[in-house]
Amino acid sequence: MNNRVKKKLLIDGNWIETEEYTNLISPYSGKVIAEIPIASSEDVNMAVKAAEQAKEIMAKMPAHQRAGILEKLVVLLTEKAEQAAEIIALEAAKPITTARVEVSRTIQTYKFAAEEAKRINGETVPLDAAPGGEGRVAFTLREPLGIIGAITPFNFPMNLVAHKIGPAIATGNTIVLKPASQTPLSAFFIGELLLEAGLPDGALNIVTGSGSVVGERITLDERINLITFTGSPPVGIGIRNKAGLKRVTLELGSNSAVIVDNGIDINKMIGRCVSGAFSYQGQVCISLQRIYVHENLYDSFIEKFLHETKKLKLGDPLDPSTDVSALINTRETDRVLAWIEEAQNGGAKIAVGGSVDGRVLQPTVLVDVNPSLKVSCQEVFAPIVTIEKFTTMEQAINMVNDSRFGLQAGIYTNDIHTALNAAEKLHVGGVLINDIPTFRVDNMPYGGVKESGMGREGIKYAVEEMTELKLIIFNRN
Ligand code: NAP
Repeated sequence: MNNRVKKKLLIDGNWIETEEYTNLISPYSGKVIAEIPIASSEDVNMAVKAAEQAKEIMAKMPAHQRAGILEKLVVLLTEKAEQAAEIIALEAAKPITTARVEVSRTIQTYKFAAEEAKRINGETVPLDAAPGGEGRVAFTLREPLGIIGAITPFNFPMNLVAHKIGPAIATGNTIVLKPASQTPLSAFFIGELLLEAGLPDGALNIVTGSGSVVGERITLDERINLITFTGSPPVGIGIRNKAGLKRVTLELGSNSAVIVDNGIDINKMIGRCVSGAFSYQGQVCISLQRIYVHENLYDSFIEKFLHETKKLKLGDPLDPSTDVSALINTRETDRVLAWIEEAQNGGAKIAVGGSVDGRVLQPTVLVDVNPSLKVSCQEVFAPIVTIEKFTTMEQAINMVNDSRFGLQAGIYTNDIHTALNAAEKLHVGGVLINDIPTFRVDNMPYGGVKESGMGREGIKYAVEEMTELKLIIFNRN
């Protein structure tokens, strides 16, 4: 990619320059890769105004046309998939093989959105079930809310934008998007493709700049009808507190766990656990952070896990053989090193890793970790995993549930009763039986409980969040 390419804001179908710019730095090389506009308050105002003006066009657009735009986007993105993956790798330091997977998933997400656009249906309501309702026929419609304010994180810069733009277009809403400051290039790229795909001017506006300024302006703007936010719990909670009467969808963080029951063939699942813990440097909302292993399997599990972890290759995200690269910025690396130090001071032992090679934090396994330590009870968002033993299943389930978060949890067991019992008792948005929690495909309902958020994504479910249910009653009396 061209060094120091100067990007523009997308407002009302035009690429607009602004007063202030900031340098975008590659997390891996530390080099400047682009100049990114910092939207002024007037820019944000214009973006919302454009979204407001496009509302009627989008709301009246027939479903087949909304689907058609998304289908065209799928074609364009498929053609440019490798370029898209390189953008993600460069701005997010996501290993290129993982970035390619993100692009394929993004294509899937927009495909699901195109399909979902054609089946936004209501239902008939039997009003005569209530005394006094005789002679009336009722049905429901789903109408677009109006303007969707979308605020997205750095870790899946293309697919998590797709989880907001896709259902918003499918439902006939307009959008003001603020991508994460570290990863705006992926969002601009999709903006270009959507214009080419025939999206009307003003239906998608992209404003960049810091979350605390630009994100906050979007959150407070009364013309916006829904804030759909994916990011960290503190920011999400702040948004919810400031959003007033707007609808708010929050997809937040987690310290996801898996339970490994007695009798499991660990050879079959150890590779998945290692990949769940260290993929994209652990910067995944459902990254595997805590592993609870039955005491009978504990020693062999540790031995095999360490063996597999040591095989991981650290390096440049653009090198196809790289498994683990740099964290998103050096502040994050410093934070994580401090958490590792706190863990050691609190009695935890480093089984492998724990230090930095160049800009890359080594995949780190910690044992004997007290649950009150940050590496266990907070979201670590780094290539760190804790492995502890348990004696009874009740104990293991309690350890998983002893968390402020509740996004997804996994349990490996051969016992159907144990599986069903865990499915009932684990307090999370999704339970995975015989899998790690780090599993997501893009049509499944996805979201958390507790500080992991509220509302669900996965196109069909986001469609519900992004539409208003309207009731129509015919009186035939
Ligand atoms: P973040 O720091 O919370 O930022 C997310 C977005 O919010 C960014 O665009 C950020 O802008 C913006 N923002 C920051 N302060 C804001 C404010 N006061 N008002 C409005 N917007 C504001 O999160 P991140 O570090 O990018 O992403 C990592 C987090 O996302 C982790 O906690 C992870 O678990 C979570 N996540 C959750 C899911 C899920 O589906 N549940 C998926 C992926 C990630 P700037 O970039 O300019 O600060």
